[in-house]
Amino acid sequence: MSEPIVPYAPRPGVVQEQTWPAMREGAWPVALLPFGATEPHNTHLPYGTDTLLGAEVAARVAAACIAQGTGVAALPAIPFGVNTTQLDLRFTINVMPSTQLAILRDVVRSLEPHGVKALVLLNAHGGNELRALVRELQPSTPIVLAIVNWWQAGDHEAFEQAGDHAGELETAALMHVAPHLVVPDRATWGDGHARPSVFDGVRAGWAWLPRRWTQVTDDTGVGDPRAASAEDGAVFVEQAVERIAVFCEQLAVANPSAMWWDERIARIDFPETRK
Ligand SMILES: [Zn+2]
Repeated sequence: MSEPIVPYAPRPGVVQEQTWPAMREGAWPVALLPFGATEPHNTHLPYGTDTLLGAEVAARVAAACIAQGTGVAALPAIPFGVNTTQLDLRFTINVMPSTQLAILRDVVRSLEPHGVKALVLLNAHGGNELRALVRELQPSTPIVLAIVNWWQAGDHEAFEQAGDHAGELETAALMHVAPHLVVPDRATWGDGHARPSVFDGVRAGWAWLPRRWTQVTDDTGVGDPRAASAEDGAVFVEQAVERIAVFCEQLAVANPSAMWWDERIARIDFPETRK
């Protein structure tokens, strides 16, 4: 009996697709941990939008860095995020910030013996406020912890209105990354209208309280997705991947004792752009 002819094609550095011999070899100075969410995304994007985008960006960043000779490992995405104000929306799955802290602590401890210098928390969901986790964990680990909100890494100018949740940016990105999961009939997409806060201070930005999602929006979206295109999504994702890849290459060679630069510190071979 002959073997089925399926090409073997694990993506470089994507840990859940790689074998032990592949990961056992070489140096992996940087790891990426995508933080996603499971929540409604207007009427046209899937619940897993954030997780899908985070995992895909991580895989592409790993591939780009490996192609330049830097070992960057993309860990599996955490599929649940902080969604404490969306729990009245069916099948929204919330994990508490304290749970995220526990998961992150265990991941960091797991990585410590394996030569990982830096762990990048690749955030894909606005409700995941990861800074407090890093502030709490950083003093107890030699691994440099960093956060990237991937949707902020590219230029927003290409979008009429980038939007906040299932808006033009996120819709365009998913049309590029997973077009088979975007509802094709645009006439059915919600307009993503968001009601402003009744409080002056919240509207001005100096006061904050979490948004009760079902009070803010009727279709669960925040931002009008209807001008989105796969072409804009491709440009944006590629730009974000490029910039995050440079950041990872810089982390790989950075001296943890000298990460704030002045002219007295040599920056030999510190990558500023991709070759
Ligand atoms: Zn999202």
